[in-house]
Amino acid sequence: MHTNKIWLSAPHLGGNEQKYIQEAFDSNWIAPVGAHIDCFEHDLETYLGSGHVAALNSGTAAIHLGLILLGVQAGDTVLCQSMTFSASANPILYQGAIPIFIDSEPETWNLCPMALEEAIIDRMAKGATPKAIIAVHLYGVPYKIDEVRTVADKYSIPILEDSAEALGSSYMSRKCGTFGDIGVFSFNGSKIITTSGGGAIITNSAALKNRAIFLATQAKDDAPHYQHSEIGYNYRMSNICAGIGRGQMEVLGHHIGLKRAMHDFYAELFKDIKGVTVFEVPNANFFANYWLSTILIHPSETNGITREVLRLALEAANIESRPLWKPMHLQPIFCNYPYYGNTIAETLFDTGLCLPSGCNLSEEDRSRIKSVILKLFRK
Ligand SMILES: *Cc1c(COP(=O)(O)O)cnc(C)c1O
Repeated sequence: MHTNKIWLSAPHLGGNEQKYIQEAFDSNWIAPVGAHIDCFEHDLETYLGSGHVAALNSGTAAIHLGLILLGVQAGDTVLCQSMTFSASANPILYQGAIPIFIDSEPETWNLCPMALEEAIIDRMAKGATPKAIIAVHLYGVPYKIDEVRTVADKYSIPILEDSAEALGSSYMSRKCGTFGDIGVFSFNGSKIITTSGGGAIITNSAALKNRAIFLATQAKDDAPHYQHSEIGYNYRMSNICAGIGRGQMEVLGHHIGLKRAMHDFYAELFKDIKGVTVFEVPNANFFANYWLSTILIHPSETNGITREVLRLALEAANIESRPLWKPMHLQPIFCNYPYYGNTIAETLFDTGLCLPSGCNLSEEDRSRIKSVILKLFRK
């Protein structure tokens, strides 16, 4: 038994993070204000090439504020990709709104444009046009940007682009996060860069960015005392976390290279193994950061080896892997809300597995992973 665990995706530090944190301490700017926040936002804006970024304390907070900025209120309906992490959908409930879940398409595993349109038409027939569409770039693979946008524009419904897993991914050379009416990033511990915990919202106007910051800092009116005319939130990023973010931005490009190298490693490893497909972008217009490398296992072609058999074999060797996101419409908390589509998301969940994808996996780690997989499939 190997003692050191191979994680799915562990944080990976660049080197300058501690320097920036020290600067924050030295200047006593350890609150959710300070130069690092401004610099981190600026770094993100420069990297993304367009938009106005507000740094927040989580991706979930960013999605919640995004819904508020799009005017989602109690009783409204919001369309949401079913196959995703629960944080994409929970903020709909925070607003007292009603989630309506949509199936995936098999090429990018993201929002199916046909099921999306079917849902919109049906909801309109039932009397209400949905207020927003939450589209996700799962595992860093961009959703079908053009097709989803066409449907959204046809019915004038704004897109909240959940880019939590896709910092550094792009479609036709334009960065993910900049396609939605509002975009969202996460810098949680397992994401491609981390601020220990954090997120950001990106909008196309400075006024909206300022509005996001206003709401994220308790919605204080312009008065010498604390006065409030609106519901405020405590969602701003701290200057300490932003310092970590500045250091991480310096190594983002490097991380993407390492993630993509892990993806290449799996593509090579599985290329001669029947019944296993490594998830890939559909064509060269799509560029994925491959935040996590994922596979589908078709047990009819693998002598009955299922994703669970592989997961347990890896676990026995102290290697972490995880089934794909369990679709929201199958979750106990969400299963009573409407769902449109077929069983694509469900089948992906049943047959898919996320493999160790950390930026810091060594050659030795890779050989350990490889030997478990080859032993299982070459029996
Ligand atoms: C991580 C993640 C979030 C939430 O971000 P946090 O920073 O953890 O709050 C939202 N959506 C998706 C798809 C994610 O993977």
